[in-house]
Amino acid sequence: MAPHHDIAVVGYGPTGLAAASLLGRLGHRVVVCERWTALYGLPRLTHIDDETARTVQAAGDVEEALRDSSPCEYLWVNGKGETLVRIPATPDGPMGYPDHISMYQPDVEQAIDKRLRGYGTVDVRQGWAVTGLDQDDDGVTLRLCGWNTETSCADGPRDEVRARYVIAADGSRSGVRELLGVEREDFGFNESWVNIDTEWLRPQPPEFAYGTQYCDPARGHMTINIGTTRQRFEFAVLPGETREEMTAPETAWRLLRDYHDLGPDDVRITRQLVYGFEARIATRWRTGRVFLAGDAAHTMPPYLGQGACSGIRDATNLAWKLHLVLGGLAPDALLDTYESERRPHVTALTHMAIGLGKVANTHDVEAAAARDAAFFAGKVPPPPPFPPLSGGVLRKEAGTPVGTLTPQGRVRLADGRTGRLDDLTGYGFTLVTAEDSTAALGPERLARLERLGCAMVALDTVDDLDGQHREYLYLLGAVAYVARPDFVLFGTAVDSTDLCALVDDLDAALSGASGTVGAAV
Ligand SMILES: Cc1cc2nc3c(=O)[nH]c(=O)nc-3n(C[C@H](O)[C@H](O)[C@H](O)COP(=O)(O)OP(=O)(O)OC[C@H]3O[C@@H](n4cnc5c(N)ncnc54)[C@H](O)[C@@H]3O)c2cc1C
Repeated sequence: MAPHHDIAVVGYGPTGLAAASLLGRLGHRVVVCERWTALYGLPRLTHIDDETARTVQAAGDVEEALRDSSPCEYLWVNGKGETLVRIPATPDGPMGYPDHISMYQPDVEQAIDKRLRGYGTVDVRQGWAVTGLDQDDDGVTLRLCGWNTETSCADGPRDEVRARYVIAADGSRSGVRELLGVEREDFGFNESWVNIDTEWLRPQPPEFAYGTQYCDPARGHMTINIGTTRQRFEFAVLPGETREEMTAPETAWRLLRDYHDLGPDDVRITRQLVYGFEARIATRWRTGRVFLAGDAAHTMPPYLGQGACSGIRDATNLAWKLHLVLGGLAPDALLDTYESERRPHVTALTHMAIGLGKVANTHDVEAAAARDAAFFAGKVPPPPPFPPLSGGVLRKEAGTPVGTLTPQGRVRLADGRTGRLDDLTGYGFTLVTAEDSTAALGPERLARLERLGCAMVALDTVDDLDGQHREYLYLLGAVAYVARPDFVLFGTAVDSTDLCALVDDLDAALSGASGTVGAAV
């Protein structure tokens, strides 16, 4: 049976939403299979970073998505309430957003859902659980079963969908991963926390308008604002405390009163749940035509606020590669670079999150005292920056930051349109040059760039309103650079001859002809 869809996405959480929307935007026939009949409607994540916000901009109406959001400020205090470190909120940075954003997840999900339904090519099948799959040389058949929300069982009518590729974004307990027989490496991190989400019944007091991590050896806990009207509280579950006890309403009120002097006149509890924090990474992310993404591929404790951000990175990485392969512009081997690019990145972030967790939530009183002393003496270095991509679809260059993120400033085009760069260039590759280079590139290379859907931005014809792109070229010591659709720097050019070589290298990397696909930089 010929596939009806280009891509099937299993799961409609942050990863599945981002993947379906980006692929729909690229014109693909996408089917989404989600067991729940509607969007979840309550927040799990509270923080996204600037890179994720930029992807949200590509996948939905970002103003709507972030309508109840604020730049995040973080405070870490010890068990005595003494400040260990304060991380101030930042204004909009090079990506066009603050580094850290506190947001309301349902707003983000609704904005993406609304956008992707407008494409007309994305079929969202909510209320259907994927219960089986078969794959062959042409595609994958997913077996579906109607989901009963009352019993949380797949016991309804049966159906099938068929697609050329599948993205399994079905969460940490991924049934697809199980069907494929893929194991996970366990990094040995296990904690339980009770999560209490609330809405303010009075204006949010200023001391709650940011995130505070209480590194108390007696009981680690934290609170973070979700935008301006909601507040999350989390408390570590101590040995001997049961899930039943920690999800009882009286426990929530006791914790809120004891730790924050808050009661039913201050907040309304909207959800109370015990989460297990773990760190696991699937041993294989691709099985034939099926790709694991998001929590299905990797989970990490939420200390870094990077679980969903990492899943959304998976979606952006896969979307453009699938687009090129489905369009015949790159061989299937390009899809192997999904795991080779994403795994080292997410592994590094997982280790960072575990490290933060060990600092924040030690029960060892002496270790906590030594930690406090190190903070007070200024001997605790800040976490390192996220690593660049270290292999995959990158140009081999010495001394340039290929594999890191390119900026997004505001620009005004020759026709007067003004806005964020990505909104004006569209979703795809972008070639930014100091000056118009059409003559230098010649018709054949221009035709190749057009086939690729590569936008061209010449800074002598475009008003670089914040000067960001010119400054970036200056810092690169280059006259041009190519950004991938996931904002990653592919390569740079120092002059017009090198610019032609850059475009040729991009073509070679994507076609795999030169063997640069998958090569380490
Ligand atoms: C307390 C807590 C706080 C967190 N805070 C942050 C944060 O601030 N920032 C951050 O980036 N991350 C955070 N995370 C992590 C983040 O919530 C997850 O990484 C993220 O939800 C993963 O998204 P996902 O789409 O991959 O999976 P999920 O959100 O789990 O979505 C999977 C979807 O697949 C569906 N599904 C499952 N099985 C099937 C099936 N067989 N058929 C059809 N559908 C199926 C599910 O119903 C679900 O809708 C936090 C996590 C926790 C626990």
